[in-house]
This record gives sequence, structure tokens and C-alpha cells, in this order.
Amino acid sequence: MRVAMIGTGYVGLVSGACFADFGHSVVCVDKDESKIERLLNGEIPIFEPGLDELVASNVAAGRLAFTTDLKEAMAGADAVFIAVGTPSRRGDGHADLSYVYAASEEIAALIADYTVVVTKSTVPVGTGAEVEAIIQKVRPDLTPGAGFSVASNPEFLREGAAIDDFKRPDRVVCGVEDDKAKDVLAELYRPLFLNETPIVFTARVTSELIKYAANAFLATKITFINEMADLCEQVGADVQAVARGIGLDKRIGSKFLHAGPGYGGSCFPKDTLALVRTAQQYGAPVKIVEAVVEVNDARKKSMAGRVKDAVGGDLSGKTVAILGLAFKPNTDDMRDAPSLDIIPALLEAGAGIRAHDPEAMEEAARHFGDRITYCHGPYEALDGADVLLLVTEWDEYRALDLDRARGMLKQPVIVDLRNVYRPAELARAGFDYSSIGRPAIQPARP
Ligand code: NAD
Repeated sequence: MRVAMIGTGYVGLVSGACFADFGHSVVCVDKDESKIERLLNGEIPIFEPGLDELVASNVAAGRLAFTTDLKEAMAGADAVFIAVGTPSRRGDGHADLSYVYAASEEIAALIADYTVVVTKSTVPVGTGAEVEAIIQKVRPDLTPGAGFSVASNPEFLREGAAIDDFKRPDRVVCGVEDDKAKDVLAELYRPLFLNETPIVFTARVTSELIKYAANAFLATKITFINEMADLCEQVGADVQAVARGIGLDKRIGSKFLHAGPGYGGSCFPKDTLALVRTAQQYGAPVKIVEAVVEVNDARKKSMAGRVKDAVGGDLSGKTVAILGLAFKPNTDDMRDAPSLDIIPALLEAGAGIRAHDPEAMEEAARHFGDRITYCHGPYEALDGADVLLLVTEWDEYRALDLDRARGMLKQPVIVDLRNVYRPAELARAGFDYSSIGRPAIQPARP
């Protein structure tokens, strides 16, 4: 099949490369000329493990191409996917659909033979119908279900594990209103049928809601364990044991029960908020999700207070070594990352910041400019700092040489927002160690 993929971001580029790897012929298109230029030069504009090899091999095989010209991308396409951003709209928290609608207008003008227009972006209930209306307005000569169809195919991949998630998903969800669109999507995902991946065909509006319901549920699970962590700290319990104790119950499951600084990233914050707004708009408020949004926002803002407590209540003139800036490991993405709440609060309190992240330094520089010091490695960040603050659990931080770390820090103080270290080991190594939902440990000093 021939596919046009609009948007070469985290979702569009991975989806395009994976569809090509399934054997389809894919042209990825982006308005951002510099992104396309880099891709044409064999560079990958984002960090995603394995993506460089996947793109290179499919380009070499002649199945994957890049362009800024939608007309070229859509020539002969059976399906055109919209994988553009749907950020929060400033002011009201609804999803900003302007990129989706602009792409729909551009597509409409270029439809020649029957084409399925597929929204892969996360879009609120009713967006597919709106896309269909836009296309009909531009092209009154085309009838839905005959000249074109609009389908929904939300993406569930996780950054950092995106290729595996796309190729071996728990399920694929396709929202269709007619059999022609269903047949095209079934053919596109045929390699997954062979793996017995469940493919859920449903109405378009249901498919749109499934994506938001899934993200809101996961965000709720994280927020639940974060509140349990706070309670653990008050009663002297250990949240990791609580998570294991409840997670072994198959009805609950062990995933997404890691207490931390609050969820961030390119999806959960904006999608939970957009679901809240949609539900309010339809007069069916989702109060649980409203609470999740509020609790999570407050949590991210409160994390700097933990650092302040760890250094004795005053951050002015203190240096904080921050390890990890991306919203999670194995990505350079900092959208809504906890570090974006924590760093301004620390600066406001008078602290200096020495930061390191294996992949997100360039992105961090766009946010913080010269207000923080960017270090080449974790030990450089620790050099002369008063406290180590672990924000993102990259593997290289898990394997930190604790003796070396203690030697570089001015004070042996660690605040671990991801519970990557073992409290007893840290106490033995002479650290004042605080983590999330576990008793704070003072070193055994003579
Ligand atoms: P992104 O910002 O990384 O990429 C979007 C790309 O679309 C940009 O490169 C932009 O230049 C391009 N673009 C915008 N309008 C265009 C147009 N008219 N023509 C051509 N290109 C255009 O976004 P992303 O993270 O890939 O997310 C895309 C969508 O997928 C969002 O709705 C998001 O919620 C959803 N999603 C994201 C993830 C994730 O992990 N990032 C996971 C699942 C779903």
C-alpha cells in the first residue's frame, strides 16, 4: 500500500518508518524544512533508540522517502495519516486542533482517487466528523465513503520504546465509518494480524475516546501511587512494597505504579486536561480525572520544596546538581517534564543549577538559556554541588559510583525523585538520602 504521513515528529516518523518496514511505500511530509533536510541527509531530528537504523534501511530499500511537498507525498496514496501536534490550547486546556484542521484542508485540495484520511494524532471526540466536514467543504465533489473516508487510528507508542510499541502493540484501535476504510486499515496492519495482535475496529467516535480514556486511566494510576507515597512518608511505610503488594493482584497490575515527581511528557498532561474539558462540554464531567490533573500539577510544583528541606531549609547560594531533564529516560523530549517546574522554583529560591541529561541538553538550553550550567556528564554536574537531585532515571545514573559522587559533592546529600537507589546502601556510603514514599535515611556517622 502507499502511505503519506503528515508530520515527522515522534509519532509520524516512527509510524512512517514502521509502516515502511512492514513493506508499504511511505512518504513522510513535514512543513518544517530543516527537519526534512536533516532526514534527507540521513540525520534523525529526534532521539529515539533504533530509529536511525530503521529509517536508513527503509530509505535504502526505496520504501521510505521525505519531502516538504504534500502533493508529492499524496500522489497515489491509499491512506494519508495526520500525525501533527495537538497541544493544549492556551487559556482553556482544550486540545488545539488548528494543525489538524490546516492539514485536513491541504489534504482535501489534493485528493484524486479514493483516499482514507486517518487521524493518528490524539484528537477529541468529534474531530473525525469535523475533518470530514472540512474536506467536504473544500471538495463538494467528493462523498464520504466513496471519494474519501475519514478514520481514527490513535497511536499508543511510548517514546523511548516507540519502535517496539508500534511493531508489537498490545492492540491497534481503528475507528471507521465504512467498510472501504476498514479494508485499507486492515491491509496496512496485516503484518500485525499475522502476529495475532488484537485489532479493535470500532466507530470513529469510540476510537477517539479510547485514546483519551487510556491515557487518563494511566495518569490516574500514577497519581494514585504518588498520593500513597505521600501517605507512606507520614506513616513510615514503603511505597515500593505497597506498589508490589497491590500490583501482584492481576486486577490491578504492576505497571504505572512507580511513585515519582508527577507525570509529565507530551501526552498525559495535555490529554488529561483535554478529556476534562470535553467531558465538561458534554455535561458529563470526569471528576476523577479533574482531581488527577490538579493533584499532579501541585505535585510537580512541590518537588523543589523537598530539595530545600534536604539542605536545611534555605537554598540561597546553594548549588543543586540535577541529573535528568527529559520527562523520562531514553528520550530528548522535555514537554511538560517535571524539570520544567522544578528548575524555575529552585532558581527562584536562590539556588544555582548544574545540570546533565544524556540527550535533552539542547532542548534544556532552549528553555533555560544561560540561567543554568550545562555539564558534560553526571560527575561534572556534581562537582562542588551541595545536593544531588535525581529527576530522570537514566541507566547511567543508576550505575553512579557513589564513592566518587560523595567525593565531588560539597555535602553528601541526595534527593532521589525516582527511587533508583537503595536507602541502606546510600546510608552505608555516608549520604543523607531522601526519596519518594520511603523513610528518609540518615547516614550512620560515628
Ligand atoms: P511533534 O510535535 O513531535 O510532531 C508534529 C510534527 O508535525 C512537527 O514536525 C510539525 O512540523 C509537523 N506539522 C504540523 N503541521 C503540519 C502540516 N500541516 N503539514 C506537515 N507537517 C506538519 O508531535 P508528536 O509528539 O509526534 O505528536 C503528534 C500527535 O501524536 C499528537 O496528537 C500527540 O498527542 C500524539 N501522540 C504522541 C505520542 C508521543 O509519545 N509523542 C504518543 C501517542 C500519541
